Amino acid sequence: MKHLIKSVIYFIGSLLSKSKRSKILYYHDVTPEHGEAYTDMSTPFELFAAHVAQVKRAGFEIVPRIESVHGQVLIAFDDGFRGVYENRARFVEWGVKPTIFLATTLVGKPGYMTADEIRELQEQGFVFQCHTVSHTNLQKFGAEELRHQLVDSKRELEQMLGREVDEICFPQGYYSDTVVEACRKAGYKKMYTSVPGDYEPDSDLVCRNLCQFEPMSRFKLILKGGMNLLRGHYLKRHYKNI
Ligand SMILES: [Zn+2]
Repeated sequence: MKHLIKSVIYFIGSLLSKSKRSKILYYHDVTPEHGEAYTDMSTPFELFAAHVAQVKRAGFEIVPRIESVHGQVLIAFDDGFRGVYENRARFVEWGVKPTIFLATTLVGKPGYMTADEIRELQEQGFVFQCHTVSHTNLQKFGAEELRHQLVDSKRELEQMLGREVDEICFPQGYYSDTVVEACRKAGYKKMYTSVPGDYEPDSDLVCRNLCQFEPMSRFKLILKGGMNLLRGHYLKRHYKNI
């Protein structure tokens, strides 16, 4: 029943949306083609392959950076799990250069990519950005700890990657006005939320659509803006006016 309601909401959302608006789709990992998942948030290989094919069939270009409000899709992964690395040959074959958000304390932990693997993917055009130090809800922190989470992770990642890191993704999606201001002050130009929606070029807060377990019927609707009606619901859950 829950699935049916979701499908109806996505269907109505897709009817109300402007067609082919660029958007960001996000996942956590893709299960290795012939292996086991590293996390229970991992998308089965066949489902992810079908999503990629559908994005192309729907006429979207999969890009490492969105530069147009129409016709482009950016694929993002949170946390830096190993499945993406193990499937790297497939990503290259598909022309998918995702943005991957890393929490510095998770790099090299069991189930996560190591610094060498991350650099290898960067060489192939994968993009790495920040997901804080400890992957904790940022709403909870005072100024000092918030600065540590935002600034020290940025510096450490820049040293590891040898390039500027200027985008961040909020752990578990949680943020507030204080968090947004602190991110801007720390030098972040884009902040990725877990609130669904289309790509908005004039905002530094970026909407993302969670697709990791979406069956094809609903995935097609998401590409047409199907999740847009849920914006209020997600904002209430993830954003605090403090
Ligand atoms: Zn995360």
